[in-house]
Amino acid sequence: MSVRVRYAPSPTGLQHIGGVRTALFNYFFARSRGGTFILRVEDTDRERYDERALQDIYDTFAWLGISWDEGPGVDGPHAPYFQSQRLELYQQYASQLIEQGAAYYAYDTPEELAAMREEQGEKGSGYDRRGRNCTAEQIADYQARGVVPVIRFKGPLEGETSFEDMILGRVKKKNKDITPDPVLLKSDGFPTYHLANVVDDHHMQITHILRAQEWIPSAPLHLQLYRAFGWEPPVFCHLPMVMGKDGQKLSKRHGSTSLIEFRNQGYLPEALINYVSLLGWAYDDKREFFTVTELEQLFDPSRINKAPAVFDYKKLEWFNGNYIRQKSDEALEALVTPILQAAGVVSTPITDGEAAILRGACPLVRERMKYLTEAADIVRFLFTDDLPYQVEDLIPKNHSAAQTVELLELARELVTGFTSRSDEENEERFRVAAEERDLKLGTLLMPLRMAVTASRVSPPLFGSMRLLGEARVLNRIDTVLQLLRTEGGK
Ligand code: GLU
Repeated sequence: MSVRVRYAPSPTGLQHIGGVRTALFNYFFARSRGGTFILRVEDTDRERYDERALQDIYDTFAWLGISWDEGPGVDGPHAPYFQSQRLELYQQYASQLIEQGAAYYAYDTPEELAAMREEQGEKGSGYDRRGRNCTAEQIADYQARGVVPVIRFKGPLEGETSFEDMILGRVKKKNKDITPDPVLLKSDGFPTYHLANVVDDHHMQITHILRAQEWIPSAPLHLQLYRAFGWEPPVFCHLPMVMGKDGQKLSKRHGSTSLIEFRNQGYLPEALINYVSLLGWAYDDKREFFTVTELEQLFDPSRINKAPAVFDYKKLEWFNGNYIRQKSDEALEALVTPILQAAGVVSTPITDGEAAILRGACPLVRERMKYLTEAADIVRFLFTDDLPYQVEDLIPKNHSAAQTVELLELARELVTGFTSRSDEENEERFRVAAEERDLKLGTLLMPLRMAVTASRVSPPLFGSMRLLGEARVLNRIDTVLQLLRTEGGK
């Protein structure tokens, strides 16, 4: 049987790392087996439904460059792929369970349910199953008061329910510990997650359920539903938790968790996909780099770990830096341009002059970037002559302002005419001059770097100066000399 898997997000919040991991694992599993990847929108919780969350699902997939074989906007044999548009199906199956005696109408008022919760306190397991024994008289009374019933599942009370999880092995739960008689169909005719999820997985012929481990507590109940319907359950595969470095479930406390934050920070989809695919999965003990195409071929769910995965922000940064370094100048320029525009570093639309400088800057900054938004600060000095010099930063350690003026005057001399020499020749001039004066090369270069870039760390200095041109470089040196002479002694 060919593999059919689904990603089934509820549009209630932004897509986060855990959800993206679930989506990717399903997608790669489908691709590696020549199967089908389905996107199903589980939008039955109308109170928590958020249209922006739905858009965020679409945006996330578009940005990742991943598409579904069946789902919204793609005609498939099991359309519609929005649960809110499939209510009749769930209602029909809820009725079927009633007829079979595996479910019942429960007429509890909100006050009665609240009292039940209060009585049970925090440790309470929920509903006390009283609806099972409601007499015809009581029902008539509820109906006369206009109480609309819900449909509850009549789960077995004795014994246990177990299933074989592809990752975790045998998972067992005593039936008495399973949520007592959960609601399947609400009084407004909408199904709960459990009913809709099981009915759809069956109807859409899902073969494997890859989802987060937080759904394990629901799985035995789902198994009971499959059994009640007489359906063969899919294979369950609960993915390992994603933790922060402190061993707690990954959350806002650790840093960004939603995909949009990573996008906005300038992470590349290739890097994110590569790193997230390694959260609980490995190809072997060594290999770390995988393109999307490789993952589409190599992903094998039998290599998913049981142990929780740790989300390491630094490692993701490292991956991102690697992927940035693989970008061509043209690709990097295209990626960085909107970021520089948003930061006001270049104009919108970018002028030809700015574009030329940016093109030249790409080879210089590529090595230094861990994520794209860093570009704004790294290259700003190339696009403005209005630099935020701080006098105390211009002066090297253990030097006076007067000594710094001397160093910079010497640098000015050495720099003059630099465009007609190669970077190596220019560097050599500085090296020789430093040696002659018994100076460290860095000491001689530091005031020059500060004058040209207004920063102690910058892209390669001579390459940067070439992009600025001699006139702008000498101007900056003169501005700083002036500043040191007037302000330096104060
Ligand atoms: N709608 C559920 C969610 O938001 C789906 C869980 C499942 O895959 O069964 O995660």
